[in-house]
Amino acid sequence: MRYIVVGGGPAGCAAAYTLQKQGHEVDLFEADDALGGRTRQIKIGDFSVGVGALFLMGGIYPRTTAILKEIGRHDDLVPWGGASELMDSDDSRYPVSFVDLLSYLKVPRLTLGDRINIAWMGIKLFLSSGAKNPFDGEDLARYDHGDNLEGFARKEMGDRGYEYIIRPLFDFLYAVPPSWLSTPFPIAIIQQAFKMKLSVPPEGPVQVSEWMIEASRNVEVNLSTPVTRISRQDDSYVVEAAGQRYRADGLVVATEAFTAAGLMRDFISTDSHDKLENAPYTDYAHVQIGYKKNPWPDYPADIVLPVGYGEGPRPVGALVLQSRRQVSAVPPGGELVGVYFTTPPLEHMSDEDIKREALDTVHRAFGEPSEKPEFVELFHYDKGLNIAKPGAYGTLDAMRRELPPGIVLAGDYFAQAGIEAAVFSGERAANQLMGAGGSG
Ligand SMILES: Cc1cc2nc3c(=O)[nH]c(=O)nc-3n(C[C@H](O)[C@H](O)[C@H](O)COP(=O)(O)OP(=O)(O)OC[C@H]3O[C@@H](n4cnc5c(N)ncnc54)[C@H](O)[C@@H]3O)c2cc1C
Repeated sequence: MRYIVVGGGPAGCAAAYTLQKQGHEVDLFEADDALGGRTRQIKIGDFSVGVGALFLMGGIYPRTTAILKEIGRHDDLVPWGGASELMDSDDSRYPVSFVDLLSYLKVPRLTLGDRINIAWMGIKLFLSSGAKNPFDGEDLARYDHGDNLEGFARKEMGDRGYEYIIRPLFDFLYAVPPSWLSTPFPIAIIQQAFKMKLSVPPEGPVQVSEWMIEASRNVEVNLSTPVTRISRQDDSYVVEAAGQRYRADGLVVATEAFTAAGLMRDFISTDSHDKLENAPYTDYAHVQIGYKKNPWPDYPADIVLPVGYGEGPRPVGALVLQSRRQVSAVPPGGELVGVYFTTPPLEHMSDEDIKREALDTVHRAFGEPSEKPEFVELFHYDKGLNIAKPGAYGTLDAMRRELPPGIVLAGDYFAQAGIEAAVFSGERAANQLMGAGGSG
C-alpha cells in the first residue's frame, strides 16, 4: 500500500512512523523546510530558539513516552525541575513547583479554609472517574458536560484557589481565560498530577518528530513541499504538491484543522468542512529575548507566573529562563528569556506593543540588565493554539468519523493542544487507516 502523510509536525511524524512499522511505504509532505511544526527550533545567531513547544510532561504523555522508549530515545530526555514562582501584583513572590500541585497550597495568600477546600477537592477528584489519557479527545468528550474551568474552579477551590493556582497554570499552558476552556482536561491532569514530570530533548522538543522519522524505514520526507490540493479518484486519492500529482491508497492529513478544511473541501460534506474550518484557535504570541551574557545567572526560579487577585486579563502568562530548560538554546554564558502572552489583551496590541510589554515584564520580574539584549524576536500567530471549549471534543470527534474511507485526520486539535495530543492522534489515524484501530 502507498500512503501519504500531509504535515510533518509531531502528529504527521507519529502517523508516518506507525504506518512504516507495519511495512508500508510512506511519502510525507511538509510545507516548511524542516520537520516539527510548532515544535521547531530556529537559529538566531548562536541561539537556538523554539517557535513553540517547551517541554514534555512525563507520565501524562503515555503514547509519546511509549514511542520514545520503543525507538531507544527515552533515556536521552533531560529532566527539568521547572522551579517556578508566582509574581503578585504588588511584586511579592511565592515559590512553587510548576508540576507539584501540592506546592501551591503553601502560597501565603491562601487561607487555611482555602487550603482545606482545595485539598478536599483534590481528594474528591482523585477518587472520581475521568479521562484516562488527558490528550485523547474521544475519551475527554465522554466527561464534557458543558462546564467551563473558571466556573468549576471558583466553585470547588474558591476565588483565591482559582486566582493563585488554576489561572497561572492555564494562562501559561493555554493562554486563554479559563472560562473559555472545558473541564475534562484539567480534571484529568489533577487526577494524574502525580505522574507529571517535565523533560526536554537535548536539542528541543522538535527532536520528538525528528527521532520518529530517523527511526523509520521507507518514509520519504519531502520538505518545502506544501500540498495544494487533494482530490478523490475512485478508491484512491490524488495529492498535488510542487506542481506534481501523487496517487495514494490512503492519506493522513496532519495539518492544522483550518488547513485540512481547505485541502479536503472538494470531497467532504459542508458540515464536516465547517467544523474543521471553525475549530476554535487563539491568536497567540511569544517573545524571545536573547542576552549574550546572562544578566541573572543566580535567579532562584526558572519560570515566573504573573498573578493578581481579582484582576482582569493580564497580557503576560509566563516568563521562562530558557537556559535552565534547554542548555543548548543559548551560547555558553548566555540567556534567552521566553515571554508567553495571553489572548484577550493580545488582540488589542500591535507587534511593537507586544515587544515593549515583554521587555517591561522581564525587567519587572528579574531586574533591569546592565547590557542590552542581542535580539528581541516576536513570534505572532493568527491561530496559534487550539482551544478546547465546552463541546469542542465531541464535535470534532464526531466529524472525524464522517470522513470518506481512506482518508483520516490527525492533529492536536482533537484534544487539548500538546505534543501528546498530536502523537496520540497521529498513531490513531495510522491505525485507523490500516484497519487495525477499529473506529480509531
Ligand atoms: C508557543 C507554544 C508553546 C507550546 N508549548 C508546548 C509544550 O511545552 N508542550 C507541548 O506538549 N506542546 C506545546 N505546544 C503545542 C505543540 O507545539 C502542538 O500541540 C504540536 O506541535 C501540534 O502538532 P501537530 O502535528 O498537530 O501540528 P503542527 O505542529 O502545527 O504541525 C503541522 C504541520 O503541518 C504543516 N503543514 C501545514 N499546511 C501544510 C500543507 N498544505 N502541506 C504540507 N504541510 C503542511 C505545517 O508546516 C506543520 O509542520 C506549544 C505550542 C505553542 C504555539
